[in-house]
Amino acid sequence: MSKHVLTAVAWPYANGPRHIGHVAGFGVPSDVFARFQRMSGNKVLMVSGTDEHGTPLLVQAEKEGVGVQELADRYNRVIVEDLAGLGLSYDLFTRTTTRNHYAVVQELFRGLNDNGYMLRQTTTGAISPSTGRTLPDRFIEGTCPLCGATDARGDQCDNCGNQLDPADLIDPRSKINGETPDFVETEHFMLDLPAVAEALEGWLTTREGWRPNVLKFSLNLLKDMRPRAMSRDIDWGVPVPIEGWQ
Ligand SMILES: [Zn+2]
Repeated sequence: MSKHVLTAVAWPYANGPRHIGHVAGFGVPSDVFARFQRMSGNKVLMVSGTDEHGTPLLVQAEKEGVGVQELADRYNRVIVEDLAGLGLSYDLFTRTTTRNHYAVVQELFRGLNDNGYMLRQTTTGAISPSTGRTLPDRFIEGTCPLCGATDARGDQCDNCGNQLDPADLIDPRSKINGETPDFVETEHFMLDLPAVAEALEGWLTTREGWRPNVLKFSLNLLKDMRPRAMSRDIDWGVPVPIEGWQ
């Protein structure tokens, strides 16, 4: 019997042309899967698009001296032409800057908030003093407080392997322009992932045909699930659809 199969492919950032690693990583495997499902008589919807929000685009736009929308428009075209030129069989390849995308994201956000799955938490965030924008963990480096390596990333030290908090780094600096970030208290919406851990575990244990290591890896992730930030201190993105937060 014919089944409906959604093939949800990773969304590449529109901050530059993609390379062969992306094609090998997300392009070809998803295309092989989708083609196999279509040949098996199933109804496939393979969807992806360019992710045009987030700090990586702002950083690249600044580097090139262009507006962020202009940058996104250009690299969206480059990526679409490359992926289409390779013959990848997307049913829809869209963008995160469409009105439809905004509407769907906001509907999901409101639904989660109305049903109690959004927490408000005050966290310590790193801000660039020159631009006033959030500096994501991976854009901060400094000296590891545990092993003394001088090139530890804000989220992890590659030398000793420990996970870090950017505020713990000695001599923290921005990887974008070398300035010292300000650490400020900021309130954010967090998705309450621990609240759904049990339901996810129940679902995972009923999976059939998954490779044992993939299933074990997924189950292990549930053990230290933490609330995850769903908002950012940034003016380029989907507005938070809550009164006073737009
Ligand atoms: Zn270290």
